[in-house]
Parts: sequence; structure tokens; C-alpha cells
Amino acid sequence: MSIAEDRETPAVTAVRTEVEVAIVGAGLAGTVLALSLARAGRKVALVDPHRIHHDEFRAEKTRAEQMGLFEKLGLGPVFRSLVTPMTDLHIFRFGQLFERKQAWEYAFSYTPLVNGLRAALPPEVPLTVGKVAEVSTGPDRQRLVLTDGSVIEARLLVVATGYSEAVRRAIGAERIEESKAHSLTMGFDLAISPQEFGLQSLTFYGRQIADRIAFLTIFRIGERMRANMFVYRTVADPWVRAFRENPQKMLLELMPEIAARCGNFAVASEVEVRQVSLTTTRGHRRDGVVFIGDAFATTCPAQGDGIHRVLTDVDCLSSTHIPAWLETPGMAADKICAFYDDPVKIAADERAMRASIYARRITTETGLEWRLRRLRNNTARHLMIFARRFREAGKPSDARLGVTGVAFDRSDEAGQELPAGPRLGT
Ligand SMILES: Cc1cc2nc3c(=O)[nH]c(=O)nc-3n(C[C@H](O)[C@H](O)[C@H](O)COP(=O)(O)OP(=O)(O)OC[C@H]3O[C@@H](n4cnc5c(N)ncnc54)[C@H](O)[C@@H]3O)c2cc1C
Repeated sequence: MSIAEDRETPAVTAVRTEVEVAIVGAGLAGTVLALSLARAGRKVALVDPHRIHHDEFRAEKTRAEQMGLFEKLGLGPVFRSLVTPMTDLHIFRFGQLFERKQAWEYAFSYTPLVNGLRAALPPEVPLTVGKVAEVSTGPDRQRLVLTDGSVIEARLLVVATGYSEAVRRAIGAERIEESKAHSLTMGFDLAISPQEFGLQSLTFYGRQIADRIAFLTIFRIGERMRANMFVYRTVADPWVRAFRENPQKMLLELMPEIAARCGNFAVASEVEVRQVSLTTTRGHRRDGVVFIGDAFATTCPAQGDGIHRVLTDVDCLSSTHIPAWLETPGMAADKICAFYDDPVKIAADERAMRASIYARRITTETGLEWRLRRLRNNTARHLMIFARRFREAGKPSDARLGVTGVAFDRSDEAGQELPAGPRLGT
């Protein structure tokens, strides 16, 4: 299958490489898989068009659960060297401090994170800088021809090309839009320094349905205070243009309660904006090839499950499936399907998709069912506030926050575990 738009005249000095696993795409998924397989002594080729991962606005925060997966994959030390850790999380709801949570979170810029992980690749797994011109897959051998004419042959091909469609399409996989333009993520630096800001992390939940805001979260990356805001709008929405033109004015109106703490929202960078659709894949159960990370599915950044899906895919493949597949001859679709049918992978993908859909509905839906759900959740949250005030009435003023014990559905919150729920589309 040729990739017409990428084809160039092959160079005269073509190189032929034979490996066990060829990985196309050296973003987070491809690079972490290459590192993990290299640690197990596998012969791996990793291909990406860019030696240095291009500057792009992507994931900037992750949680302890994902740190656990980095540790499990043997990448804890390198991941820790690339991130800013935080443990003291201040959560604002209804315009007031609602909860102070002690939990590990890790902040980073995506590009230095991916480049830092690439730098940890051992010499046996160098990054091959090149574009794929042709790809052929089958039950035994997979073959990539790069635009410089070099050829990579492998027993297994892993596609980790993120949002990019060229390689996926050439193989015959189709992206299905489950929720088009589902949410919009905005990222910007605040002019305030971490020392002036004083807190490690602040999350402020939207107050009115009309605002269509999931939440704003402000956190430290190195010496910068960074803000991510998740909204249920499209890029074409005039509200988005107005926000980009004057973020300070809009934030002061939307969140006056935290303005003073945030340097009155003076913004020190352009507002980066990324629209995200929820997508799955069809036509992926094929001989010789497996799709991982965003090349398999995309979910809403607000729930922070993208990295979890990536690491779950890598962990399932590198610790279970790839070693088993390489032990026996052939690489037919029935072997590959064991990965897509792995209950651990299915659970991670379903959790991410369910959380993405639920969070948008609980934030924006105006029907009776959703108004009742919001009423239930907000009543429980108000009860928590009253209970805390009652308990703290006789205590010193620095008494701890964070009363728990009132049951409500926290599924719309950043990074919360979800209760069991219906599958997508039901
Ligand atoms: C704005 C935004 C914010 C997000 N925030 C969060 C968050 O806070 N927490 C979280 O967990 N997740 C978040 N996510 C999701 C997370 O960033 C992704 O799930 C994750 O980065 C996917 O990694 P990946 O390796 O699959 O894809 P990518 O990182 O996109 O990597 C794809 C790689 O493939 C390469 N490539 C493309 N085409 C080709 C080709 N033809 N040949 C060879 N190589 C190719 C590219 O150069 C790139 O290196 C966010 C996403 C967005 C868009």
C-alpha cells in the first residue's frame, strides 16, 4: 500500500533493516514502547519524520496512576527527571475553596517530555528519521519503504502515529468520529511567578451551564505558572475568538473569586487552542499490525486519560502480548486480536470514553435527567461544605479542609475514577 502524498524519489543508497518490531511514530506511545521493548532486549526500529518532536500543545499534566505505569515500564526515573511534581491540590467550586486534596500530580510540556524520553533510547534502538512511502502487512512479514528508499522488515508493525492519518489509511484502518469537536482545550502562561502564586495547583470548576466550562486548572511547570482550560465549544464559536483576544477580561468576569490569587489573570503567552473529537477505529483487526495510543482512539483531554490509554497499550503489549506473539511463528490477525480483546486495554479505553461523554453531558445538558443529576451532585457538595464548616467551627483557623463521606457522583471531575456505566452509544 503506497502513501501517495509522502512519496519522493528513492535515494540510490537504500538500506535494508530487519527487526522484530517496527514502530511508526515516535510520540509518547511509540517512544515509550520502543524504550520498554529495548529494555527486554528486543530488536526494534522506531521511525518518525522529525528528529526533534515538533512544538505542540498536548498533555501537560498527569496523575499518580500513570506514574505507576511509568514505574512498571522501568521509566520512572526518566519520567521524574522531566516533570514538576505537586501534591497539594486546591479545588474551587461554587466560587469558594471546596476541597484541599493531597495527591500526586506531575506537570510537563509535552514536547520536552517526548524529546527527553527519546533521548533515553539506547544505541541499539536509534530513531530512524524518515517518512513512510509504502507499507505492506501480512500474516508473517511486514515491510516499510521510506521515502529515501530504505526498507524496514519486521515480524510486527506498530502504528503509533497519533492524529496523523496517512499510514493508518494506507493500511486500511478507518477513524470513526464518536463525538465531533467534543471539547476545546486552551493553554496559556500566567504572568504571575510560582512564588507569588503560592499554591502548587488550583482547579476551578465552571459555575453556570451557559459558560460551557468544565474547569480551569493552574499549575507549575518549572518556573512558569501554566493554565489549562477545558470548554465544550468549537473553535468557530465567537466566545473562543473573544477569549483569545482578551483572556484576562474574560477570566476576570468568569472567575472573579480567584482573580487576586492569579495575578488578576495577566496572561504572559498566546492562548493555544486545540479542538478534540472523540474517535475510535474500524478495520484495525488485521494481520501483522497493531494500532496504539491516539492512532487507535482519542478521548477528551479534560479527563486526563490520554496518557493512561497510551501507557496501558504499551504495558499490555510489552509485558504480555508481544513476548507471546514473538515466541511462535506467524503474526496473523487472531494473535493481534488478543491485544484488542485484552480486558485491561478494554477497561482503560472504555473508562476514558465514558468519562469524556459523561463530563460533557453533566456540564452542558439541560434535560430533566441531567438537571436532576446536577442537583444531586451539587446538593451533596453543599452538604460537604456545611459539614466541614460545622466540624471546623470550634477548631483553629488552619484546620484541615477536605471533608469526605457524602456520596455523590464525581465523574465530571478531572482525574476521577468512574462508576460503572453504560458503554458508548448505549
Ligand atoms: C490539547 C491536548 C491536551 C491534552 N491533555 C492531556 C492531559 O492533560 N492528560 C492526558 O493524559 N492526556 C492529554 N491529552 C491526550 C494526550 O496528549 C495523547 O493521548 C497522547 O499524547 C497521545 O500520544 P501518541 O504517542 O499516541 O500520539 P502523538 O504524541 O501525536 O505521536 C504521534 C507521533 O507520530 C508521528 N507521525 C505522524 N505521522 C507519521 C508518519 N506518517 N510516519 C512516521 N511518524 C509519524 C508524529 O511525528 C508523532 O511523533 C491531551 C491532548 C490534547 C490534544
